[in-house]
Amino acid sequence: MPELVHHWIDGARTPGVSPRRGDVFQPATGEVARQVVLAGQDDVDAAVASAVKASLDWSDSSLSARTRILFKFRELVDAHRDELAALITAEHGKVLSDAAGEVQRGLEVVEFACGIAQVLKGERSDQVSRGIDAYSLRQPLGVVAGITPFNFPVMVPMWMFPIAIACGNTFVLKPSDRDPSASVRLAELFDEAGLPPGVLNVVQGDAEAVNALLVHPDIAGVSFVGSTPIARHVYETGTAAGKRVQALGGAKNHMIVLPDADLDGAADAAVSAGYGSAGERCMAISVVVAVGDRGDELVEAIASRTRELKTGPGTDSSSQMGPVVTGAARDRIVSYVDAGEKAGASLVVDGRTFDGPGAGFWVGPTLFDHVTTDMSVYTDEIFGPVLVVVRADSFEEALALVNANPYGNGTAIFTTDGLAAREFERRVQVGMVGINVPIPVPMAYYSFGGWKDSLFGDTHVHGAEGVRFYTRAKAVTSRWPRQARGVDLGFPTHG
Ligand code: NAD
Repeated sequence: MPELVHHWIDGARTPGVSPRRGDVFQPATGEVARQVVLAGQDDVDAAVASAVKASLDWSDSSLSARTRILFKFRELVDAHRDELAALITAEHGKVLSDAAGEVQRGLEVVEFACGIAQVLKGERSDQVSRGIDAYSLRQPLGVVAGITPFNFPVMVPMWMFPIAIACGNTFVLKPSDRDPSASVRLAELFDEAGLPPGVLNVVQGDAEAVNALLVHPDIAGVSFVGSTPIARHVYETGTAAGKRVQALGGAKNHMIVLPDADLDGAADAAVSAGYGSAGERCMAISVVVAVGDRGDELVEAIASRTRELKTGPGTDSSSQMGPVVTGAARDRIVSYVDAGEKAGASLVVDGRTFDGPGAGFWVGPTLFDHVTTDMSVYTDEIFGPVLVVVRADSFEEALALVNANPYGNGTAIFTTDGLAAREFERRVQVGMVGINVPIPVPMAYYSFGGWKDSLFGDTHVHGAEGVRFYTRAKAVTSRWPRQARGVDLGFPTHG
């Protein structure tokens, strides 16, 4: 029998009560490595009840007490980096160095959360009227839920729960059922750091668990990261049930290369950002827009690098790209490559022919040139190692292309022209912009999020916006009078 991945409820691993199970694959071998419990309503209720109970005391805990636990958690995650990276690689498939990078970027959010006492300071105005002071404070929401995608099983949950918990909330995490083990390990490490039972719970599951969380009366807010159709569903259902929701969706990230750019540098960046993590990153570059008359040169520079890439098991230190997450994902990616070819795009490098070891979920890096905006390889988020090149005659045409796309997660421009970069930065309708940086993921102390169909709701995650999402503002007006002032039915002004 494969090992069973449990929930983490009320400070302990538990199989819960629902008998449903899901398979967890090892993508490099194609085998079912583990099974995961899939929560039903009763399991969700148990996790939320634990979070409600823990909330009474946790929301009252001192900033110093919370910070001390966060610092310890930071040390424990740091000490268990390799173990966490190995868990990611085993269930997701990405190469170990990439998995270690993911742990590092998650850890940086914990480091930001360690400074919560500074970030939560309110404002105060002395003497707004005679004898009256005004000030603001931010208070936790109560119980919040986080629903996360498969592609960053450590980093994306850590965008959410360290900040929510630092702000005094308790948390119910519903990770992806494709790579569920890392979340439970993180919860265990937080427990070891001294987090009281119930402050962080993990319910494993699928849509059934998500839908139970979205309408649960004791959940005050929901953070979601995943594909656009599910983000829209989560936002609409959660807000209709009266909750605060931030739902980050999918992407189609364009990298514009102007003819004045260093083409070798741009080609290195396109290949790194297109095929890193087998393209299973919401900030992956999936479209290169070659501007002007150096397109052939650029495509050749990208193609020669793409052909050199080594695809193989994530645990092999010579592999640069691992398998994709499931057989279904591989089949979907291959069907897009078939469609692109049929639609008349030039298939420069064909990853369908790559045959990796064993029965793993292999697809090699694939490059299309002369793609047009009506082809499905351009319109759809493929979420695999498929890079498409679109040609444009001018900066304006390239910018218009990006702005016409329904997604608005990340984008980049490669150029040596500062004025063009500045124009791009100001006029592009995208949430995260890179200038000669292909994957402009904001640091933990800034906030991460897209525009348009890449975000439903109005706050981004982590940094100051994360803190704002997980807290409610209260404005206090305070007077300590020496004597009664008498009745006055007039509207108060500032005498
Ligand atoms: P997904 O939308 O399939 O799943 C995300 C979460 O929603 C999972 O926890 C899943 O169990 C749950 N879910 C799936 N179907 C559901 C349904 N019908 N009803 C309710 N819940 C459901 O996404 P994924 O395949 O796990 O992850 C890849 C997607 O996530 C890509 O689209 C990628 O761009 C996106 N993503 C976005 C960001 C971002 O910051 N914008 C970051 C990472 C990933």
